[in-house]
Amino acid sequence: MNSDLSFDINIVYDNLCNKKGFLTGFGFSALIFNHFTQKFLLFDTGAKSDVLFNNIKMFNVDILDIKKVIISHSHLDHAGSLREIYALNPDIDIYVPKGDEFAFKSAYLNAKIHGSTKLMEIEKNVFSSGHFDWSHINEQALFLQTSKNEIIILVGCAHPGLEQFILRANELNMHIKAVIGGFHGFRKFSYLENIEIIAACHCTRYKDEINNKFPTQFKKLCVGECLTF
Ligand SMILES: [Zn+2]
Ligand SMILES: [Zn+2]
Repeated sequence: MNSDLSFDINIVYDNLCNKKGFLTGFGFSALIFNHFTQKFLLFDTGAKSDVLFNNIKMFNVDILDIKKVIISHSHLDHAGSLREIYALNPDIDIYVPKGDEFAFKSAYLNAKIHGSTKLMEIEKNVFSSGHFDWSHINEQALFLQTSKNEIIILVGCAHPGLEQFILRANELNMHIKAVIGGFHGFRKFSYLENIEIIAACHCTRYKDEINNKFPTQFKKLCVGECLTF
């Protein structure tokens, strides 16, 4: 095993393509293994639990081994399977953007719900961006800090604008190595210039433009793929 590994990012939910045995569905979810803590985290849940659970199982991971789930925003394609995850694993810590915390607390009465306001460490080398509010949608992103002190950004839909999350990640004063997830209608492409891996998937409207502009950096992602850092 490579002792230099920081994170495995397994794509367990997306709507575009899949490897054999994996299922697709509208939404996004990434199963992350944190090598610093030796623990699994889930970023978003996708819409349907049968799709999500099939794909997690394909990576030989038990749902009960997932200790934390981070919900980027409350849209069903990102939080739709939370109910089934919570039913199986009521001890799980659930991180939601501030403002959504009360809705989640009333939906999951005894759950451990945490609201994130500003940039905060969730566990070793894992940060929430803190919440951004855009047109009544509260959203957070996840920042992973590798052993080389580089940042991986994971976004759900990036409704408030991907650049907001990039600017927030810059506050950590480290090189941004990769950005992964749904970019929605993002077009301020100059923000992507120094990022080595641009894995735009899910709801990204201008995927072709991004691919044309950054052909060496662009990475097509499919359900069942694992990115390691
Ligand atoms: Zn979405
Ligand atoms: Zn959304």
